Amino acid sequence: MTNNMFFIANWKMFGDFRSVNSIKKVIKFSRSKKFQKAQIIYCPPYTLINNFIKLVKNTKIKIGAQNCHYSQRPGPFTGSISANLIKSIGANYVIIGHSENREAGETNKLINLKIKSALNSGLKVIFCIGETFKEKRKKVTRQVLNKQIKLGLNKIKNKKDVLIAYEPVWSIGTGLIPKPNDLFNTINFIKQINKKFKVLYGGSVNPENIKKLKLINNIDGFLIGGASQNPNKFIDIIKKTYN
Ligand code: PEP
Repeated sequence: MTNNMFFIANWKMFGDFRSVNSIKKVIKFSRSKKFQKAQIIYCPPYTLINNFIKLVKNTKIKIGAQNCHYSQRPGPFTGSISANLIKSIGANYVIIGHSENREAGETNKLINLKIKSALNSGLKVIFCIGETFKEKRKKVTRQVLNKQIKLGLNKIKNKKDVLIAYEPVWSIGTGLIPKPNDLFNTINFIKQINKKFKVLYGGSVNPENIKKLKLINNIDGFLIGGASQNPNKFIDIIKKTYN
C-alpha cells in the first residue's frame, strides 16, 4: 500500500439535492491530520457537480464527472456533456469506460476518443477496465485487459493524467471480490504494461472487505460505488485503509 491512496466515490445515478449533507461529513473528516495522504475524489451525478465544487472549495477533495461526450467542441449533441464543459465549472476528473457504459454500447474506440477529449480539456481520467465473469471463466482476463488498455489509450502520449481503475465486471455491486493473490497478479500485470500506471481496484469495496484489500500492496487506491453513498461507510473505508 502506498501512502497517497486514492478514494474515488462513484455515486452513479444516485443522489439529489439532499445528498449534499453527505459530503459535508466527509469534508470534516478530510481535515484530520492523520488522513492527509488520502486523495478523495467525488464523482456525483452531473446535477450535483456545481454544488459539490462550491462545498469542497479550500479543501483537498476533488470533484469529477462520471462520463463525457467524445466531442470537445460544442455541438448538436442533445443530452450530452463535453469534457470542456465539465472542466469549465471547476471539476478535475472524469470516469471513462465504466462497465455500465460499456454494457450500454460504449466501444474501446469511443472510449479512446473520450479519453483524448478529456485530456485535451485538462481533465484527469479515471479509466475503467475489467473482465466479465464469462471472460474470467474462459481465463482470458489478461487478453481482455490488454486489449482495453491498448485500444483505450491508443495514440495517447500523456498517460500521467490517466488513473487505471481495474473493476472486474462480476465484482461490481455483487458483494464479490477477487481472491487476494489473483488481484495482486492482475494489478502487477497492468503495471507491467506501463510501469508508470497508478492502478486502483473497484468492485464491492466496503468497510468489511477493506481489511483484506488493503493488504494487497500494489493497489494505489479504490473506486467505490455503493458504499460511497453512505458517508460513514466511506469514511470507515478510508480509516481502515490506514489503520
Ligand atoms: C463502481 O460502480 O464503480 C463500483 C465499484 O460499484 P460498487 O462499489 O457498488 O461495486
